[in-house]
Amino acid sequence: MKKVYLETYGCQMNVSDSERVATSLVSKGYEITTDENSADIILLNTCSVREKAEQKLYTRVGRLRASHVKKPMIGVMGCVAQLEGETLFKKINGVDFVVGTRAVGRLSDAIQNVLEHGRGYSDLGEREFDYDWSVSDAQLHSPYVAFIPIIEGCNKFCTYCIVPFSRGRERSLPASDIIRNVLQLRRRGIKEIHLIGQNVNSYRPMTESGLEGFEGRTPFSRLLRAVAATGMERIKFNTSFPRDFHADIVDAIDEHENLCNWVHLPVQSGSDDVLRRMKRLHTIERYFNIIDKVKSSPRDVSLTTDIIVGFPGETEDDFLKTVEMVEYCKFDSSYIFKYSPRPGTPAYEMSDNVNAGEKTRRFRHLEEVQRRIQNENLQRYLGRTLDVLAEKPAAKSDGDLTGHSTCHRVVNFPGEKVLLGETVKVAITEIKSNSLYGEVVAAA
Ligand code: SF4
Repeated sequence: MKKVYLETYGCQMNVSDSERVATSLVSKGYEITTDENSADIILLNTCSVREKAEQKLYTRVGRLRASHVKKPMIGVMGCVAQLEGETLFKKINGVDFVVGTRAVGRLSDAIQNVLEHGRGYSDLGEREFDYDWSVSDAQLHSPYVAFIPIIEGCNKFCTYCIVPFSRGRERSLPASDIIRNVLQLRRRGIKEIHLIGQNVNSYRPMTESGLEGFEGRTPFSRLLRAVAATGMERIKFNTSFPRDFHADIVDAIDEHENLCNWVHLPVQSGSDDVLRRMKRLHTIERYFNIIDKVKSSPRDVSLTTDIIVGFPGETEDDFLKTVEMVEYCKFDSSYIFKYSPRPGTPAYEMSDNVNAGEKTRRFRHLEEVQRRIQNENLQRYLGRTLDVLAEKPAAKSDGDLTGHSTCHRVVNFPGEKVLLGETVKVAITEIKSNSLYGEVVAAA
């Protein structure tokens, strides 16, 4: 039996692809191993959003080749594979095959091909019509939390982003398949699902079977209501695109307790000029209107975002508008990035005129503002009781368990392993910089 070691970089979509690749390979007689040294085949599921992704892949493959006595087969999948294709064979010595983002269902064919004909096989083709989206229990990244892709690819072409090129155009999965998947996972004991996609709220299936009876609402809010009706205990979704975020999504959260009170809505900048150059398709006024709607919810919805500082042409005035925007939105957390150009994107051709020192200054300034707001926001949880799914033992403290609240806060608490997989009520006693700490007071 050949052993396969899978290494995954990047977003939830890559994690989810790896889960299905592992499921499919096991069904074909392969064994998945967590020990790279014993592997016959090593699969690197790559991310192109990372800076110098190709260089890092080059280094990783080199290290693997140097450290292995048994010379495993090395396959590259994911976004770098899709973007670079066969050129990887020339650029990186030691890669045996390349499988693109939509060809992962044929990974065993790639392995077979290399076994029979030697290195140099590539498949950058489209997904099969009857692709199996299910994941076996053994290959889920968590026994209690599952990712469910509902839309692949992206049509937005933000000028700094490579995803539309690496993941292709948007394709929504049929609602009936999604609902069936949710019901199966619920029967198998999964407590929390994340509906995932580059832009989940751009969800627009060709046929909407399973979504009848919610006329006048956007397809995504109808999907949310249909998924809520399955009785799955906790439902989260990630990531949302501001232009396609409509009030009916918040209404659905208000009406269904199992739709969790967390929205991740990347804003990227507080300046309309910068947003226009980024081609984000929303204005700050539109974004504020959404934020006002989210904040008016009685569910105390937690808000998180992504922000880029130092985008080409970003002036001090533009940057200060971003600071003002952060002060207004009071995000519970923000992923702040310094802009760095990605080859192949339109922004790569723009003059990157904010120097490295200035980017760092803006990054630190914004980080400080965000940290203060975050600390103030976290105080609201002190003394409150949150419903927390006990997911695993805490990494840093013996005897503690860790999990997430419905508002997607990390919560640590003392607890026996018998609680794993249970939702418990945790009274918050301490606020840490990026997490909460508390005591279990009851089963939820
Ligand atoms: S919406 Fe923009 S940033 Fe997000 S994946 Fe699509 S192109 Fe990239």
